[in-house]
Amino acid sequence: MTFDIFDLSLEIRKSLEKNNYKTPTKIQEEVIPLVKTKKDIIAQAKTGSGKTASFVIPILESLKAKKVSKKAKIKVLVLAPTRELTLQIADTFSNFSEFFSQKPSIVSIIGGEKIGEQLLKIQKGCDIVVATSGRLLDIIGRNQIDLSNLEFFVLDEADKMLDLGFVKELDEVLNSIPEKRQNLMFSATYPQKVLDIVSKISQNPIEVKIETASTKVDEITQRAILVKKEDRNPLLLQLIKKNKFKSVLVFVSTKRAAENISNKFRKKGYNAESFHGDLSQEERVFTLEDFKNKDIQILFSTDIASRGLHIDDIDCVINFDLPRSTEDYIHRIGRTARAGKKGVAISFLDNENIEHFKLIEKRYKLNIEKERIEGFDFTLLENIKQKGKAPIKGKRKSKKDKLREQNLNNKPNE
Ligand code: ADP
Ligand code: MG
Repeated sequence: MTFDIFDLSLEIRKSLEKNNYKTPTKIQEEVIPLVKTKKDIIAQAKTGSGKTASFVIPILESLKAKKVSKKAKIKVLVLAPTRELTLQIADTFSNFSEFFSQKPSIVSIIGGEKIGEQLLKIQKGCDIVVATSGRLLDIIGRNQIDLSNLEFFVLDEADKMLDLGFVKELDEVLNSIPEKRQNLMFSATYPQKVLDIVSKISQNPIEVKIETASTKVDEITQRAILVKKEDRNPLLLQLIKKNKFKSVLVFVSTKRAAENISNKFRKKGYNAESFHGDLSQEERVFTLEDFKNKDIQILFSTDIASRGLHIDDIDCVINFDLPRSTEDYIHRIGRTARAGKKGVAISFLDNENIEHFKLIEKRYKLNIEKERIEGFDFTLLENIKQKGKAPIKGKRKSKKDKLREQNLNNKPNE
């Protein structure tokens, strides 16, 4: 396959040749024609898969087809997380427009450089702005930029912009650009926070995902939260409330835990039940029916429910306790996101089980961010031995340990 399939202009084809782009990558194959349809897009593909050209090429093609006014107006705004990426994207725009008879004017707006020159370039008129959000807002705040003619809004490397600061800045940027625009969003990974950002930008973007072997359960957003054991109940409550989960399957390690916690949640007024091997066959059938019908909102279950149950529309699977076998992890989280629907799986981690979780990640080639939730402070103990538990405070050191420490520190015996 070559770039010929896209019916690109001669000028762009020349630049493709010059830059040694012979065959489109998978993401380019999908995204380039989609951009032409004027739809919003959220595209996920791993780093290095060629996401930049997948938006740069069709955007340039679209600009090229337009009549040029005397003074350029900003039609494209790209937000990127860092100065380096901003400059790279700007370069890609200029590389692929090299042979245009009317070259678009491209301005990078980044912090750490003098703002005066950037302002001057904007005032002269430009077509494409590639920016980091902080400096852009600075310029917006000075009323020095007219974004009212914007046609394309691009968010690149969305998963690198997840800190709170950016989310606030994004809101401000969105307030400064026209509501009618085409939104193109790109990310290497797809955590919940990216989905949150995406939903601020666009209501119904078309999703493009380039599968890799490691994303078997790729319709499931997997999260891991660091939380003290005793804080798990309030955290669970908060997650359910905040995300408005209507159907939650919570895995616990024992029948007793399933009973106890479901009791607690019932007392708080939730439709919660337990599901485990001590229930009669009849009770199990009824419980499942109620859960399927959404008469039960939260089901606390042992691993009995992790394999093969077909319940549609579970919003979220919670690993309140981690499964003993790594394989059960996939079975458990596979209870959500059935029939092509999206789902979330959240694992609660603490100092005792984090090493076990890392084994699960290793086995399934996952790399899940270990989140901390505001209001739930957690101290991660580093250097826990693979198999051992967290060191117990006040436990007396063995002679061997003492000797080892002495050797390490090379200190005389006290
Ligand atoms: P991503 O944003 O997905 O991490 P980039 O867009 O930065 O990836 O592309 C990674 C590298 O691959 C860049 O050096 C880019 O020039 C190159 N590249 C992208 N698409 C092609 C292609 N179709 N043919 C050859 N090289 C490409
Ligand atoms: Mg990129």
